[in-house]
Amino acid sequence: MKQLTRARITAVDAYDVRFPTSRRLDGSDAMHPDPDYSAAYVTIRTDAPDGLEGHGFCFTIGRGNEVAVAAIDALRPHLTGAELDGTLTGLADHYRALTGDSQLRWLGPDKGVTHMAIGAVLNALWDLHAKRAGKPLWKLLADLTPEELVALTDFRYLADALTPDEALLILRRAEPGKAEREARLRAEGYPAYAASPGWLGYSDAHLASAARRAVADGFTQIKLKVGADLEDDIRRCRIAREAVGPDIRIALDANQRWELGEAVEWTRALAGFDPYWIEEPTSPDEILGLAAIRRAVAPVKVAAGEHTANRVVFKQLLQAQALDILQLDACRVAGIPEHLAILLLAAQFGVPVCPHAGGVGLCELVRHLAMFDYVAVSGTLEDRTVEYVDHLHEHFTDPAVIARGRYTAPSVPGFSSTLRPASLHAYSYPNGAVWLAERAQGVA
Ligand SMILES: [Mg+2]
Repeated sequence: MKQLTRARITAVDAYDVRFPTSRRLDGSDAMHPDPDYSAAYVTIRTDAPDGLEGHGFCFTIGRGNEVAVAAIDALRPHLTGAELDGTLTGLADHYRALTGDSQLRWLGPDKGVTHMAIGAVLNALWDLHAKRAGKPLWKLLADLTPEELVALTDFRYLADALTPDEALLILRRAEPGKAEREARLRAEGYPAYAASPGWLGYSDAHLASAARRAVADGFTQIKLKVGADLEDDIRRCRIAREAVGPDIRIALDANQRWELGEAVEWTRALAGFDPYWIEEPTSPDEILGLAAIRRAVAPVKVAAGEHTANRVVFKQLLQAQALDILQLDACRVAGIPEHLAILLLAAQFGVPVCPHAGGVGLCELVRHLAMFDYVAVSGTLEDRTVEYVDHLHEHFTDPAVIARGRYTAPSVPGFSSTLRPASLHAYSYPNGAVWLAERAQGVA
């Protein structure tokens, strides 16, 4: 009988894709006034007859996207020509090979551009895995057994906070009710909050109308960027609070702008507007400082995590009681094995995960992780909400869909990380049609 040969990975290609969002100040905050939302986009091709491709990306905000592309290129030798082992063991092997490269790890370890590139490649592999399995990623993960999930999780350096046995207990505790939660998710979706109204570069009139529209659209929480000028922030908070009324949560986001004392004083100065959380009040690496800010500004909650590089830093943020809200980012850490560790750590410490999204493609990806968490890890929606920003979704083949302020559950197989081919070409930097037109107009 003819021996069946396994498919092999034939190509790992990285593309520099940028969207000229700085033209309209979409995404502007106190630290990043002119972002061009960008993706260092990976395509993994195989010689399997199904013709399926895996897609993933690093999210960046413009310059430096080419550095992320180079980091992905540096990982290519680990994958090109490798057997496409569609088992969980095979995926775990890829994780170990990529994170364990004895020379590349000097650039981190477990942080920075190489770590983000590993995340992009692993997300592409899991996208391909889910497509081949015919399931959206959240469902594929939710269908794994607690033992399989524990076997996939990276527990290195976590033993003082979370052991595999403790993780197993968390996952087994969540098993009763999984089917009901999955049904509820499909029927009602997952709570979202609106970050679009509050970009720092928007006018007062735009802020007021966008805040009112968010409430009319069913959102129960909005977010405002703060931290550039206190008088402006007081005025904008007043406008937003008057627009949404007393019952809608308003989160504030300082994007790392403040020193410690400043963070406390500034947050207290805005406390009269009843902010729900203050996000990234200072450096993302400031573990003890975030804990001190949290103690000082309570009952305003402290949220952070979108720039937290890895599970080890998350562990310490939780041990130091520095976070009320953990903001996992789907493209910052090293793929599913590290996401699992972070979701399990949050469950272990009883801290709600409200993932970071927005940018380009983050909403598409991170909803899968939040929905998996609800079905199979935390088992609750209490105080959980995923960031939502209403642009750039049209570039994805399986875009995030919001109904009545909630993310609908994806049903298309994969990780929803596939860009439309036309968008990939038009927004390629520097020679896609959109960028050629920008330069012809003298604006890029
Ligand atoms: Mg933020």
